Amino acid sequence: MHALITEIRRRATLWRSEHDQVAHAARSTNLQRMANLTPAVVFINAVFIVWLGAQLLMQQDTELVTQWKLALFLTHLLMASGFGILTWSAHAHRHAVKSWLGRGLPLLAACLGEVFVIGFVTFDQWVSPNISPYLLGSIAVSLAVYLRPVTSAWVSVASYCLFYYAIGLTQNNAEQLLSNRIHGLAAVAMGWALSVFLWRKFTIITLQREQLENANIELQNKHKELQRLTRLDGLTGLYNRNTFVELTRQELARAQRQGSSTSILLLDLDFFKRVNDTWGHPAGDAVLKNVAIVANSTVRATDLVGRLGGEEFIILLPNTTLEAARRLAEKLRANLERSPTLWEKTNIVSTVSIGVASTTASEKHDFDHLYSHADTALYSAKEKGRNRVV
Ligand code: GH3
Ligand code: MG
Ligand code: MG
Repeated sequence: MHALITEIRRRATLWRSEHDQVAHAARSTNLQRMANLTPAVVFINAVFIVWLGAQLLMQQDTELVTQWKLALFLTHLLMASGFGILTWSAHAHRHAVKSWLGRGLPLLAACLGEVFVIGFVTFDQWVSPNISPYLLGSIAVSLAVYLRPVTSAWVSVASYCLFYYAIGLTQNNAEQLLSNRIHGLAAVAMGWALSVFLWRKFTIITLQREQLENANIELQNKHKELQRLTRLDGLTGLYNRNTFVELTRQELARAQRQGSSTSILLLDLDFFKRVNDTWGHPAGDAVLKNVAIVANSTVRATDLVGRLGGEEFIILLPNTTLEAARRLAEKLRANLERSPTLWEKTNIVSTVSIGVASTTASEKHDFDHLYSHADTALYSAKEKGRNRVV
């Protein structure tokens, strides 16, 4: 027995926390549904108003039947007005999920629905022992709005109390009254069970959808990160060799179509091995990162900076002639000489040799050709004593 109570408590706590998580989604769905469904209710009321109005005007009935039709006519009229106001409010506040109106409107619609349905069965008792509108109404309310189990239980209890009292006013046959009250209890219980069932389904589906959406976002982020990692150099964040070559080929094709010149700079750090040997590899890595930062801040945003590997870098300069590229290379060389890397309180000054190569659109040179020319120029810069542009 104790274990059972503990289990019920555990389940209730779990459900409450799940319901808190979906409360916002439920309110939003309820408001959306209200905006769509309440006009339909008003329309059905209007049909009954016209039909009953015509009957009242044209048909000769007994006094009791006329009184019944008039009561139904007025109830439909009242219901149409009530739901008309609800329709307007639902449309006006269908995005105000957090306001008190957004929270209260669906509950108000459920309560009004119950009240009017009870009105119909109550007047029906004058001419018929039938209570099927009450059963249908309870089911319709459960289908139309998502209410938390405790809230719908309160609505059901209140509805049944009103039903119990109201049909006592119009049903004079004691046995029939008892039978209707018993069946009414069954109807309200069924409505509540349906409401709880639908609410739980909504909760589970909403939570699963949220989990799926979160997993999807995470997957997309990982995919993007993976793409980034395969395109970039891990140490410097510059384009890696493959990406750089691919982008350069695209740029050369574009430049040939547009008739513009393209240049590349091939950089190799001077005596870089000494940096590693003197300060260690982590210091060498810091120098490489510093070179990447200085290179990126020296060139234009449309230029591409890549790391070919080791201490060799490559820069693509679209729309740039050989002379302009040579000037930029000289500026970069000077900037690097002026920007030492701070490593454990020591400034490591490193210089760079740069080979420049250029092609015009009419020459139709491909990347390999350009690269080989830049490499020859770089070799020559090393030969001539390093820290220079050729
Ligand atoms: P030169 O002026 O002729 O270019 O001389 P150098 O010392 O720069 O050239 P060398 O090719 O002899 O040495 C390049 C060094 O770069 C050797 C290698 O250990 C180092 N290196 C390559 N990749 C990395 C790296 O990712 N990090 C570090 N710290 N060192 C690297
Ligand atoms: Mg080298
Ligand atoms: Mg070198």
